[in-house]
Amino acid sequence: MAILAPYAAFDNHTLGRQREEIPSKYRSEFQRDRDRIIHCTAFRRLEYKTQVFVNHEGDLFRTRLTHSLEVAQISRTVARNLRLNEDLVETIALAHDLGHTPFGHAGQDALNQCMQRYGGFEHNLQSLRIVDELEERYPDFRGLNLTFEAREGILKNCTPKQAKTLGQVAVRFLNDSDPMPPSLEAQVVNVCDEVAYTTHDIDDGLRANLLNIRRLREQRLFNEHYSTVLKEYPNLSHRRIIYDTIRRIINEQVSNLIETSRAQLDAIQPRNVEEVRVADENMITFSALMYEKHLELKQFLKTHLYQHYRVRRMAYKALQVIKRLFETFMHDPYLLPLDVQIEIQTLQAKLGGEAGRARAIADYIAGMTDRYAIEEYEKLFNPISLP
Ligand code: MG
Repeated sequence: MAILAPYAAFDNHTLGRQREEIPSKYRSEFQRDRDRIIHCTAFRRLEYKTQVFVNHEGDLFRTRLTHSLEVAQISRTVARNLRLNEDLVETIALAHDLGHTPFGHAGQDALNQCMQRYGGFEHNLQSLRIVDELEERYPDFRGLNLTFEAREGILKNCTPKQAKTLGQVAVRFLNDSDPMPPSLEAQVVNVCDEVAYTTHDIDDGLRANLLNIRRLREQRLFNEHYSTVLKEYPNLSHRRIIYDTIRRIINEQVSNLIETSRAQLDAIQPRNVEEVRVADENMITFSALMYEKHLELKQFLKTHLYQHYRVRRMAYKALQVIKRLFETFMHDPYLLPLDVQIEIQTLQAKLGGEAGRARAIADYIAGMTDRYAIEEYEKLFNPISLP
């Protein structure tokens, strides 16, 4: 790895783990965090969780796992060029979606509705909850005992009210609506997440025939590159034109992100990560024009893909599945597997009766893959399927 910039996160200056551990002989602290993520159960489940399209709709669509890998790969390019810590961005990127429910955002909204009386449900908080509490792999502690920097990056959002219960890692959210910036590595992953999903959702949306080229060409960022590819390769097949257009859109955004952020860092010259954390604004950003074009594309996807009637039908179905599972388990927890029943008892003692039961059930449902949730639904409610 190249020599890190003074404002990077240095693993020998980490703010530490919640439980102190003896350093590894051959791996840095952040490498160790990354390895713990890759070995954990929640990470493997990402393979069978929806990004936009339900996992069984087709083998070629992105899943949460391939999305997370794309985010990691784009983030590492940016980090390396800004001399930030690549191991840390990789860790944060691979972990950033661990808390997602089955069926994508529709699943999260459904579970959040179910949990309204018990503190709600939010996938960012759930990602942190997974690495802090829910993964059980180590003899001496619950969770993965990650470094502060990894946990800070995973907790992308939270309300001031929630922040009060989370300790040091959430201090930056205590100040009402204006959170303090996290490390530059966390900032890189946040932006690269958006670069990854806007571009791969165009690809998937076109493949599924939910988006059309004519409408897409009304978006500047798409049209500029699409026109160039057409001009350079007038006889290329449709699919390859799309691939090359998308490749160029990613490249332009990443280049702009690197150059704009580098200029900002050169101007501000933070002396260390602490100065990054007390700054007024994030330093990893697009230029104003690129941000505008990026938002245009995001808005387009919101209207034409995420609200497409076929995606909405999936969302509606997800809502029914999750709501019915939640209500049924709340009403009769003895329908749950034994380890979940034990978890309910633990959380009931900790959080109080109903709230504890609800949280344990939410953890169980959130952990399900798309197909597991559908199978559970079938087993419980279809009279001719075996329990
Ligand atoms: Mg993501």
